[in-house]
Amino acid sequence: MSPSNAFRPSVTPQRSSPTNANPIDYLRISLIDRCNFQCVYCMPEGADLDYALREHWLSHDEILQLLIEVFIPLGFTRFRLTGGEPLLRPGIVQLVDAIAHLPQTQDLAITTNGFRLAKLAQPLYDAGLRRINISLDSLNPDTFDQIVGNPALHSQGRSRWQNVWQGIQAAHKVGFAPLKLNVVVIPGVNDHEILDLAALTLHQNWHVRFIEFMPIGNHKLFGSKGWIDSASIRTQIAQNGALPMAMSKAMAQQMSFKFPEPKEP
Ligand code: SF4
Repeated sequence: MSPSNAFRPSVTPQRSSPTNANPIDYLRISLIDRCNFQCVYCMPEGADLDYALREHWLSHDEILQLLIEVFIPLGFTRFRLTGGEPLLRPGIVQLVDAIAHLPQTQDLAITTNGFRLAKLAQPLYDAGLRRINISLDSLNPDTFDQIVGNPALHSQGRSRWQNVWQGIQAAHKVGFAPLKLNVVVIPGVNDHEILDLAALTLHQNWHVRFIEFMPIGNHKLFGSKGWIDSASIRTQIAQNGALPMAMSKAMAQQMSFKFPEPKEP
């Protein structure tokens, strides 16, 4: 999601399965390189962010034309809208509506930091979006603000965590299910919250996905604090009662767990 690998918007085809025999039908579309957050692992403070000029953006018509005339004829039917922060893209609801209603679209998802979601969850749902992934690296507002950086964006002294949490609640309320939350685990910063974040799945149809912290945009942070490998995260979750689930071949690179239903008293 960083500007370094984002824009034009860029389109990234992905295999639906690790085997060569299966078709490539999944396309990620980066709608904007800008973001209203500045996460320490993505756009660290002081980094030289070289954004694309707005006049160089593909218009909505050009994106749709590319889908209809190039990618759909090649077999692409599943699309994910990303950024930067895709909800900063002007006219995002109209674009979602147009892609969702292409007759060939079988799946449309969006990855967002959730900051604008409280207002946009309902319009996006009404436009035809059904799948959404939201970043939530901490349940603690101070830790969250520390991770997402850019304190100048504090809204009237209120943590941006509140905006994101309201966005998550709004998405849940309008019917996005399962709601997917992405957590980048940073050692010494939010790794002590793994079980609390996993517990969000206990009472709602939410999925929490833990992602290994990668040195994408901030090598210094990576070098000084190391990283927590996914095996350690899995062990921690399994030791606290979560049960591993069977995985499809397409999901071979990840491991899913489910906590058993709480017993009636
Ligand atoms: S929310 Fe954070 S990780 Fe996502 S694009 Fe913005 S700065 Fe990068």
